[in-house]
Amino acid sequence: MKECIFCRIVAGEIPAKMVHQDDEVVAFRDASPKAPVHLLLVPRRHIASLDDVQPADAALLGRLLIAAKELAAGEGVGGAYRLVTNCGSTAGQSVFHLHVHLLGGRPMGWPPG
Ligand code: AMP
Repeated sequence: MKECIFCRIVAGEIPAKMVHQDDEVVAFRDASPKAPVHLLLVPRRHIASLDDVQPADAALLGRLLIAAKELAAGEGVGGAYRLVTNCGSTAGQSVFHLHVHLLGGRPMGWPPG
């Protein structure tokens, strides 16, 4: 998807502050952080949103969550972080390439806005 900004980051065509790369998952710092730690974890493969995953993607989703846990620990926020996946514009999704926000480093309210 050459018009997808996260595909372009994954491809190295747009710079990002990378914190993790493996064969399926890439993570980088959010350009407009909403917490002291704000990472985005994305699959290398273009998937528009959580609504577009298939049962065959179960292992990939697991890889995203395991990577999030490991990155949280590495960022010093293990045991004190939030994962968010906005699905659809009504829920706040603005980039239509599946991503998990990892937020930490400050107290978080509930419910989210
Ligand atoms: P969402 O609104 O849930 O789709 O989240 C998209 C996130 O991508 C936002 O938090 C943006 O700040 C972030 N973002 C957009 N463009 C970039 C970029 N080039 N590098 C890093 N983060 C970005």
